[in-house]
Amino acid sequence: MSDVFENIASYTQDYAQDIYNFACELIRVESLSGQERGVAALVEHKMQKLEFDDVTVDRMGNVRGSVGTGQTLICADGHMDTVGGGNEEQWTRPPFSGEQDDEHLYGRGAADMKAAIAAMVYAGKVVQDLQLGDRFTYMVCATVQEEPCEGLAWEYLIEKEGLYPDFVIIAEPSDDLISLAQKGRMELKISVTGKSAHASAPHMGDNAIYSMAKIVTELERLNDNLDVEDKDLGKGSLVVSEIASHAPSRSSVADYCEISIDRRLTWGESPQYALEQVQRLPSVVAAQATVELHTFEEPSYTGLIPQKECTFPAWKIEKDHILTSSTVQAYENLFKISPTLTTWPFSTNGVAIMGKHNIPVIGYGPGELAACHVANECVKKEQVIRATMMYAAMCVTYTEEKMGE
Ligand SMILES: [Zn+2]
Repeated sequence: MSDVFENIASYTQDYAQDIYNFACELIRVESLSGQERGVAALVEHKMQKLEFDDVTVDRMGNVRGSVGTGQTLICADGHMDTVGGGNEEQWTRPPFSGEQDDEHLYGRGAADMKAAIAAMVYAGKVVQDLQLGDRFTYMVCATVQEEPCEGLAWEYLIEKEGLYPDFVIIAEPSDDLISLAQKGRMELKISVTGKSAHASAPHMGDNAIYSMAKIVTELERLNDNLDVEDKDLGKGSLVVSEIASHAPSRSSVADYCEISIDRRLTWGESPQYALEQVQRLPSVVAAQATVELHTFEEPSYTGLIPQKECTFPAWKIEKDHILTSSTVQAYENLFKISPTLTTWPFSTNGVAIMGKHNIPVIGYGPGELAACHVANECVKKEQVIRATMMYAAMCVTYTEEKMGE
């Protein structure tokens, strides 16, 4: 079987320049969240041109392309949206020039995550060329709106399109490491209603800001006393990020106050657990405060309007899971050394896939975190090629191990 991996490596090398050119083509089309139409069309056409078995665009605007006929369904996920270009004066090359030199590809989305999408697509081509797809189906999922609301697209794919893969490769930048977990997060809103009165007679009112001040103090203490700790991800955290209030005038007692909380969830803390933890605080009970989740309602480029609660549960794949061992095996077969395992500090679509729906995920993708969301974003060509090889090889080692179980 070892020559399969040599073949994957040499076929990928043959496509290297095509992969770089396709990634640069994607970079040259700006694709803010909700504006991915142009990039989606490029991904769709590329997979059609490469003669994928099936290419579809769903109502939300996600593009899927598959090769192979096997029962085991393996998806690779890459989001098509990027953050904005930022201050162009800070860029040595314009953010959407999509240039390349001997070692790097440059531009917004190079690392996060247009080169990854190019790698995902060409891995499908390699799978097809080598006729590996009799035991698995490999599906590229190029998704929308990840930057403002990770997991949104995958909630749609799973809950509305009925997509239930055996596992999903998250191709977010991992700098050639293999990522096994990430913290989750949620966005909470607490509001308190008071009673206004003339500021010269404060005893006649009920000041919503004073009630909220007690809540804020308890929240600060709660952050210091969070007790759930995961050995890989550590503890969660809690931050009061916004505050706003209302009064009839500056000479009145405040009758309303609200705050927003960013709560990071470690493995073992569910959104429900974290919500109830805040609801039970004595100051929250005393003020009869309302604790609720923020929601995300921005339309996709096709006009689909979501209504998603802002909860993004943590996920973690165990080191002895078949997905981890087969991914490590793929890496060793290709590169003849053992990979380094890591966790991601940032959030990904894995929050919906595994955090909410328990479909196993694992992370491997070209690029470094330090290159994302900054000026002069770039990605190493070598990592793009390694990712392409890995996606094809992971399908092979996973189905091999699964059959041997
Ligand atoms: Zn990303």
